[in-house]
Amino acid sequence: MYDCIIVGAGVNGTFIAHDLSKYNLKTLVIEAENDVGDVTSCANSAIVHSGYDPHYWTLKAKLNVRGNQMYDQICQDLDVEFERIGSLTLAFTDEETQAIGHLVANAKKNGVEVSVLEPEEILRLEPFVTKNVKKAILAPSAGIINPFELCVALMENAMDNGVELRLNEKVTGINKTSGSFSVVTDKSTYQTQTVINAAGLYADEINNFVSERKTEIIPRKGEYYVLDHFPEPFVSHVLFTIPTDIGKGVLITPTTSHNYMFGPSSDFIADKNDLSTNKEVLDRVLAAATKMVENIPMNRVIREFAGLRAYHESNDFVINEKDGFINVLGMQSPGLASAPATAELVLDLISRTLALNPKTNYNPKRRPLYRLNQRTPEERNAVIAKDSRFGNMVCRCEKVSEGEVVDAIHRNCGATSVKGIKKRLRPGSGKCQGGFCEPLIMGILARELKKEIKDLRYDSSGAYILLEKTKGSDCHD
Ligand SMILES: Cc1cc2nc3c(=O)[nH]c(=O)nc-3n(C[C@H](O)[C@H](O)[C@H](O)COP(=O)(O)OP(=O)(O)OC[C@H]3O[C@@H](n4cnc5c(N)ncnc54)[C@H](O)[C@@H]3O)c2cc1C
Repeated sequence: MYDCIIVGAGVNGTFIAHDLSKYNLKTLVIEAENDVGDVTSCANSAIVHSGYDPHYWTLKAKLNVRGNQMYDQICQDLDVEFERIGSLTLAFTDEETQAIGHLVANAKKNGVEVSVLEPEEILRLEPFVTKNVKKAILAPSAGIINPFELCVALMENAMDNGVELRLNEKVTGINKTSGSFSVVTDKSTYQTQTVINAAGLYADEINNFVSERKTEIIPRKGEYYVLDHFPEPFVSHVLFTIPTDIGKGVLITPTTSHNYMFGPSSDFIADKNDLSTNKEVLDRVLAAATKMVENIPMNRVIREFAGLRAYHESNDFVINEKDGFINVLGMQSPGLASAPATAELVLDLISRTLALNPKTNYNPKRRPLYRLNQRTPEERNAVIAKDSRFGNMVCRCEKVSEGEVVDAIHRNCGATSVKGIKKRLRPGSGKCQGGFCEPLIMGILARELKKEIKDLRYDSSGAYILLEKTKGSDCHD
């Protein structure tokens, strides 16, 4: 019998698992994909929003503001990339300038520090902003984070502290029995005292297995352009258009990996698996971004991608508890920024059913990563002197060594797919988009996981890369 089963290992499921691992509880995370943070938590804008703009009466506002404040400590403990670069919300028309007054009043109610900047100051901070800018809201507490690394780090630390993880296993039913739950998957059945539904786009299905109050999650797609790294100066804050009722609008932002992206669009769609991108939509994204920065270097674009928001009709987060079943649904933006506070609230709800007795041997720290591309030549040489695999560069765009790939495979919550390595270390995220590094990564994965190279996947179960040998030589060479 488990004390708690968490369905879904996105940022919410992994954060809750991490926080539960502080207590003497038997906790299991069940994830349908072959990795954590593989769905919406890996396809978003990666902003830890300041929380100035969600309407002050919403749960979004409360959890965003609290979550933002909690990120410094957690990222320090888990060695996750996070930078408070601040955001600028830009007004170009009289109507947008008027909206600034309401937004500042809302910020005050949310307890978020903001200031209003005039054009001269805006252009001093961001010289590439379109010259007809009229006003901007500066929110210094907004930050950028590496959301892939965050999910992996949270789960790794949760597992280091005793939480179990089952990947490639889909929850297909939940039955409430007297005082406990039977969680049925496509592989097994588990008994548990409590269930946390953190299934993102499919949180409606999980809720509807148990709750008399049926609900629906509708996917709302956001499409982006990703730019490469480049040495010339570009933007240094998160630049937003004025938010509207359908979202925060288009943004242009640096990433923690020192490249840039802009987007997203916001369109309801029917299919929860549709991650395609579309030229017309991306043209709209470009037009909105060009309103903020005229000369976006489109010759630096290396990729487009899409993510799906889990929209609920309340247009707010829905976090509730009944008889040991907890819903975490409708987690659209700012779900990432809010995740630490969401987990805090969930633990509060779970304490109605379970006694939370702290572990005496809890370890809050994750073993630090090597991050050779951020080290001095002397530091790199010292690591290579101990293990020559750290001197073998397998990704030239992002400068990642074989030693780091091996480390990412063998940690708790280690990578098992090409995308798993990409999410943890970035090979395949740079200019070559995997053209150079992918075969090398596959060779290392096959060797370390003792698998046939043709059995490796790019991502989830159907995503084969190789089907059969075309030549006599061994593919591993
Ligand atoms: C375009 C876009 C931009 C965004 N930008 C931001 C931003 O900048 N800042 C911000 O704060 N938020 C942002 N968000 C919101 C943020 O990404 C989400 O709130 C957050 O990632 C949701 O995490 P989650 O864990 O709830 O869901 P998910 O990450 O979707 O995780 C749910 C998991 O449940 C698993 N699952 C589903 N069904 C089952 C089942 N039956 N059995 C087992 N496992 C199952 C899935 O495989 C998945 O891994 C954005 C979202 C989008 C789409």
